[in-house]
Amino acid sequence: MVSPTTPTDPGPTGLSLTPGLPICQTDLPLDWYQEEFKPYAEEYLALEDRTPEVVFPWLDSYVQPALDHFGESLLLLAHFYMGGEIVKLVERYGGSVSDSYALALQARAKPEKTVIVESAVHFMAEAVAILARPDQTTWITNPKAGCTMEMLAKDYQVEPAVDMLLERYGDDLTVIAYMNTSGRIKALAGRTGGAVCTSSNAHHVVEWARRKGGKLLFVPDQHLGVNTALRLGLPRERLVTLPDPRRGAFRLEDTAGGLEALDRSEMILWGSECGVHTIFSAEMVRWWQERGWRVLVHPESRPEVVSLADGVGSTQYLWSQVARAEKGERLVIGTEGHFVRNARAEGRRRGFEVRHLAEAGTAHAAAGCGCATMSRNDPPHLAGMLDLLRRGEAPDLNRVLAGDSVDERTGRRDRLDPEERSVLIADASRALERMIEITEAARA
Ligand code: SF4
Repeated sequence: MVSPTTPTDPGPTGLSLTPGLPICQTDLPLDWYQEEFKPYAEEYLALEDRTPEVVFPWLDSYVQPALDHFGESLLLLAHFYMGGEIVKLVERYGGSVSDSYALALQARAKPEKTVIVESAVHFMAEAVAILARPDQTTWITNPKAGCTMEMLAKDYQVEPAVDMLLERYGDDLTVIAYMNTSGRIKALAGRTGGAVCTSSNAHHVVEWARRKGGKLLFVPDQHLGVNTALRLGLPRERLVTLPDPRRGAFRLEDTAGGLEALDRSEMILWGSECGVHTIFSAEMVRWWQERGWRVLVHPESRPEVVSLADGVGSTQYLWSQVARAEKGERLVIGTEGHFVRNARAEGRRRGFEVRHLAEAGTAHAAAGCGCATMSRNDPPHLAGMLDLLRRGEAPDLNRVLAGDSVDERTGRRDRLDPEERSVLIADASRALERMIEITEAARA
């Protein structure tokens, strides 16, 4: 059984809650909550403020009975980008906070955990569900928490393009699915002999796929795709980006440079991107560097930003740089706003400075944007999910099954039948397993 730490105890990531500072920066409107979650939201909204001193006793009244009830079988998970200080809450209750690669492996690494509750976006919870054993159930605290990059690469958008590419290039096409895709796209990668990748291992996975030969389709983040290709020395003229998925259905001829550019390419990029990371510009990087700051960015940023930065890497890499920063150091980080806010608090605690890349040239200390969809998981969602699970009344909408296609506006899911689901799990697992093999081999 897990006992919560005190509000100011740092968790394993070194994060600690600051007494007196709000846990969440904004409240969600009551009508954004599912019916079953409204009673928890009403109580939360009626609390006198959002400081740990006020929120914790309320949260404990729901979370502690659930921790006692489930004991060792419960696993709480959160991603580093979670809004406000939810990551610290999850750590406080003995949960794990990490990047998407480590999150995906949690179910398999901890077979004793049969009830897995994730406060993050849907694709992360679904990756856990794909690799889970049949007796492990996965739940998401808010089913409306989607990833905008993934929402522009739904199966009904990507599959027609893959069919056209297969028709033109035959079996020479390998799909690489970034972790930020649904299980249906990961399964597509598995069916083409491809693999999943994350921002921390994309260069290993693409290198592996290049050794196989033929063409690669990298889905969905065009910037991570280009940054990875350039890192591996692929010339720009061997890269081509498919038409913007926001335009709707397209023909291969609509690609910039037409069929000729496609035929010439080695790597084809799906045209999605992350709105949080594409706000950064080369001017911002220069602005900080001219003033003596060290700039670190996430590889979902535009290539011109990545090429100028002093360090580039996944959230795990960025946090490792924060963890080893020395007193007096000045770091600028180009990634999700909540992450930078936590890094800044860590810097205050240990005597170094952290700023957000988007604050360049502004007087604002909060110009960087957070992942709004991930932040839809707030304290009432965590309290409600755990209490409803304990009472055996958890809504089916919050249950995450492999292959679910989620409408992020309503949270509704289109579920596969059990037979289709087991085929999808086999295909998507193959792509995930391949990523794990490639990553572990590279680490060895
Ligand atoms: S930060 Fe961007 S890529 Fe990551 S979950 Fe949010 S929208 Fe998706």
